[in-house]
Amino acid sequence: PLILGIESSCDETGVAFVRGNTLLTDAVASSVELHARFGGVVPEVASRAHLEAMIPMMSRAAAEAGHSLSDVDAVAVTSGPGLAGALMVGVAAAKAVAWALDKPLYGVNHLAAHVCADVLDHGPLPSPTVALLVSGGHTDLLLVNDIATDVVALGRTIDDAAGEAFDKVARVLGLPYPGGPEIDRLAVDGDPRAIHFPRGLTSRKDLERHRYDFSFSGLKTAVVRYVQEQERDGIPLDLPDIAASFSEAVADVLTRKAIDACQEYGIRNLQIGGGVTANRWLRRMAEERCAAAGIELRVPRIRLCTDNGAMVAALGSQIVQRGLPPSTLGLGTDSSLPVEQVQM
Ligand code: ATP
Ligand code: MG
Ligand code: FE
Repeated sequence: PLILGIESSCDETGVAFVRGNTLLTDAVASSVELHARFGGVVPEVASRAHLEAMIPMMSRAAAEAGHSLSDVDAVAVTSGPGLAGALMVGVAAAKAVAWALDKPLYGVNHLAAHVCADVLDHGPLPSPTVALLVSGGHTDLLLVNDIATDVVALGRTIDDAAGEAFDKVARVLGLPYPGGPEIDRLAVDGDPRAIHFPRGLTSRKDLERHRYDFSFSGLKTAVVRYVQEQERDGIPLDLPDIAASFSEAVADVLTRKAIDACQEYGIRNLQIGGGVTANRWLRRMAEERCAAAGIELRVPRIRLCTDNGAMVAALGSQIVQRGLPPSTLGLGTDSSLPVEQVQM
């Protein structure tokens, strides 16, 4: 079956066509530059940009796929979590297409879709797989028995998401928004051992209660304090060293806990997804540590890690392949949809 996927949970308007586990085409428009001067995504601005981009992205994706919308067998759309107004634009568009074509509609979870993007690059996920989801709004460690029906949260961030930490630290360093890619670039020339930043929730006591949880707010505070001390002492900031040491701290905890989970559950497969997966430091550390632990690592190409319609179509396709019932045309949005609820 040919699946149309629509994504609009944050600041990317994504439309894609997927058949089975194969990505045919993927069109993405981002409103990120419109938010840059505010230092973060402005919900009203994002919703408006989705309204303007939705039809053009549908036309572009269809043209590139060599299909017309009427060829579609099912429509999948992100119905949560995300910004309420932004989600509504995608869901309204998806409902309109599904209703007009009389095809089934599937409201799917954006976070499960991030994990599912990998299917387009590496085929079906082995069961079970441990998945680490690291994005702008979420940081979750998941036990994925079946990406369409059985996702269990092992842990999550108790404060900031990893991407949020990158963006906040970038701001402290005077870098433009979004800061993740900026820190990534700077870190290449830095020394990861120059400054020792804290690893949240890794003390013996914390591990008792928060074995697979994460915390990045203490790390952010440590960077702020370090910057203030340097400035007070009149020492110029070595941005590459700070970026590298910070990236090292984030990647260290993320990969350590993910691999611990694989070992505790006896699982030899780790999947990493979400926008922060674009980070070179995290990718390299995950590759090294998984190789050392005998764990097979799956990370999709960077374009599939950040928000896009392809991952939504991929998850819709998995749901269709399993013959699960569609959502109703009364489908709503849930801005805080839990990761375990794969379909709405
Ligand atoms: P969510 O998926 O939780 O709803 P989101 O959709 O906004 O949030 P994504 O698009 O998956 O998040 O990821 C965006 C985040 O990824 C931003 O915080 C951004 O700074 C971060 N990011 C992107 N590229 C990099 C990079 N190379 N290094 C570090 N962080 C990065
Ligand atoms: Mg974005
Ligand atoms: Fe996302």
